[in-house]
Amino acid sequence: MWTYFRSHLGWKIFFSYLVVIGVGIIILLSATEFVIPRAFDRHVAAMASMMMGMMGDMVVEAELNANLFDSFRDAMWEAITFAGIAATAAAIAVSLFISRQVVAPIRDMMRASKYIADGHYDQRVQVPGDPARDELDELAQLALSFNQMAEKLSRTESMRLQLIGDVAHELRTPLTTIKGYMEGLIDGVLPDELEIYQQVLHEADRLQRLVYDLQELSRVEAGAYEMHLQVINVQDLIEDAASRLRRQYEDKGVELSSNVPEDLPQVRVDKYRIDQVMINLLGNALQYTPSGGKVNISAAQQNGEILISIRDTGMGISSEHLPMLFTRFYRVDKSRSRAGGGSGIGLTISKFFVEAHGGRIWAESDGIDKGSTFRFTLPV
Ligand code: ADP
Repeated sequence: MWTYFRSHLGWKIFFSYLVVIGVGIIILLSATEFVIPRAFDRHVAAMASMMMGMMGDMVVEAELNANLFDSFRDAMWEAITFAGIAATAAAIAVSLFISRQVVAPIRDMMRASKYIADGHYDQRVQVPGDPARDELDELAQLALSFNQMAEKLSRTESMRLQLIGDVAHELRTPLTTIKGYMEGLIDGVLPDELEIYQQVLHEADRLQRLVYDLQELSRVEAGAYEMHLQVINVQDLIEDAASRLRRQYEDKGVELSSNVPEDLPQVRVDKYRIDQVMINLLGNALQYTPSGGKVNISAAQQNGEILISIRDTGMGISSEHLPMLFTRFYRVDKSRSRAGGGSGIGLTISKFFVEAHGGRIWAESDGIDKGSTFRFTLPV
């Protein structure tokens, strides 16, 4: 019951009014009990001595009554004045206490929001009460949400700064290479040969792919894409993606196989997005598996989900890198991945798409040169 009071601002205010009324009543009762009798006695005594002085004169009954009533009225006024002053003082004290409880956190939030607006994202406000004891009133919850908002803003800001740094870094390498080749050609240090122009074209290609990936990433991160869900066979999904890359697998001499049970239930997915995921995973498997290696795609039903796995016999990934692979621009072997045109964004985008379908994606590997398996789930 007490917790309920403490966690509702409306009840707190209502309760404070009750306290004020209660204090007023107590003061009035004590005034009636203690102040009135004494004041009445005093006034009656004063009246009695006055009457003693007039003993010789004729005392009219009406005059006696009037004097008695005057004494009573004076006593009442005295008591009410005392009670009024005491009740006002008590009311002021209680309302000051309550308004300070309400106004202080609001002021705190006003101050913090101004700081945040000025770009100081590390500002937080104090949450009145104890969050662990589940007795937060509306103001405390507002303070809590305020802090969560500030935390999110701060994270977004640092992500933005990190992104700008990463992009600048990614652009620098191909641009430096192109500039180096061009300067070499102009100065006559490099021979005017087809191979040189092909290198320049290759770097320009990389730049173009990076820009495309970045565009896609920003769209996906901002949630600026629509999902067109359709019910589809898992087998078709896998076969479609595999057939698109089969030529490249043959060219490199990597064997691509699949084993997908026929009785798998259908899934409701955006085929275009899941295709992108599959092609990214199959493309990576091809890129990081030397010729003569094998890549296998399998699917199974597990706990009400479809689990799709792409296993390769390639270069493998050591365990410390596994959780980081889905972070943008993360590459295990920077120079090797970059040389292959990798931007380190593919898996980040894949993760977004899989999670948008309510699934999970992760990587497994027994270590360097022991191959890797990338798995993702799709709800049935
Ligand atoms: P990239 O475009 O560089 O391939 P991804 O986001 O697709 O970017 O992959 C991130 C990194 O994960 C790669 O740079 C690579 O180091 C590692 N990786 C991805 N797939 C595999 C795989 N099948 N075998 C080994 N390493 C892989």
